[in-house]
Amino acid sequence: MKFGGTSMAGTERIRRVANIVRTQAAGGNEIAVVVSAMAGETDRLVNFCREANALYDPAEYDVVVASGEQVTSGLLALTLQSLGCKARSWLGWQIPVKTIEAHAKARVSTIDAPDMLASMASGEIAIVPGFQGVSDDGRITTLGRGGSDTSAVAVAAAVKADRCDIYTDVDGVYTTDPRIVAKARKLKAVTYEEMLELASVGAKVLQTRSVGLAMKQGVRIQVLSSFTGDDAVSADDLPGTLIVSDEEMDEMVENGLMERQLVTGIAHDKNEAKVILTRVPDKPGAVADIFTPLAEASINVDMIIQNVGRDKGETDVTFTVPQADLARAQALLEDRRAGIGYNRIITDSRIAKISVVGVGMKSHAGVASTMFRALSDRGINIQAISTSEIKVSVMIDEDETELAVRVLHTAYGLDAPD
Ligand code: ADP
Ligand code: ASP
Ligand code: MG
Repeated sequence: MKFGGTSMAGTERIRRVANIVRTQAAGGNEIAVVVSAMAGETDRLVNFCREANALYDPAEYDVVVASGEQVTSGLLALTLQSLGCKARSWLGWQIPVKTIEAHAKARVSTIDAPDMLASMASGEIAIVPGFQGVSDDGRITTLGRGGSDTSAVAVAAAVKADRCDIYTDVDGVYTTDPRIVAKARKLKAVTYEEMLELASVGAKVLQTRSVGLAMKQGVRIQVLSSFTGDDAVSADDLPGTLIVSDEEMDEMVENGLMERQLVTGIAHDKNEAKVILTRVPDKPGAVADIFTPLAEASINVDMIIQNVGRDKGETDVTFTVPQADLARAQALLEDRRAGIGYNRIITDSRIAKISVVGVGMKSHAGVASTMFRALSDRGINIQAISTSEIKVSVMIDEDETELAVRVLHTAYGLDAPD
């Protein structure tokens, strides 16, 4: 069971969570619970780091931001104990949740948890702080924003759980963010592939890596709400959204449990920033000179546009990076201005990426043109486009995000009936 930040925000809500956990335990289940920090807490801690040092050391950042989950895991254990349940917390380094790669965006490598498994077998509920792990050299790491979902899937795989129930503040995965589109529809199931793509383009209900890991390890995920009344059906009746394999989805469609749609969902992402380098020499190696230093600094580049050089053997190169990495990316490129040979660097964080996702696109034409037409009908200008087999994304002005999502939701026939 995993509980997100809104579910853990304050002792009152933690008591509700403890009651949900207690009910599952009373049903005879052995349970590991993964918890997030209280809503807003991680943002608060990140801001402290920025105030302390704008170009902060990611290793020390991890020490600071991992603390939010330590607090909630202890509090949930205490609350469960107050309800008469046996429970104890297991911090990332105690389990241990071993991670590799960069601080602030570490990946889980292995979880070998013999002590935690023994404790669970003896009837103790294990409470695990999400988001945190430990590097090979013994330092605290964190798994990137939203990383508690990945912690939950990793723990589920390690304890060979029957299911990983991700409790959040909405009752499942919707055709788009239900906070933006009131007519969004809850999906009974989504395939791993589509969920992976939706998450990677901004549907923050699950962290992208958690879906990738679940797909690889065959972990069954259900997304459901922790804010339901006392008369709510049990999680075992699968009231939320299941993340399923293609085969399971085919079966559900055959049995009339799901309808096949051309577009499964629409997502938006306001966390990217646009970088334009003007008058880059149009010659082999120029693009490599731009992107190699960014890759070496673990900065993920997403959309890339390079125009055909018109004259003078020069071209503009436009791309996007996470907003959080913009300052570092800009500094790296300014340092290399002479080497790369560009004229100006222009940045803009007031952009958004809107994406439509669906496996139906593999075999149907016209998904992209519907998108472009629907946006142009509302006067929304497209600044860049990128596609994959099951996705089309466009970059637009950030102010038009909500309008664009609503317009596209209607254009693809996804609106719930009145
Ligand atoms: P938690 O704190 O539980 O991890 P998050 O805030 O990370 O919760 O994720 C849940 C939020 O994801 C919802 O409140 C909703 O606004 C947002 N969201 C975005 N896209 C979707 C979607 N397609 N379906 C459901 N929720 C979505
Ligand atoms: N608390 C972390 C965050 O806000 C991890 C999580 O909640 O998933 O990003
Ligand atoms: Mg989350």
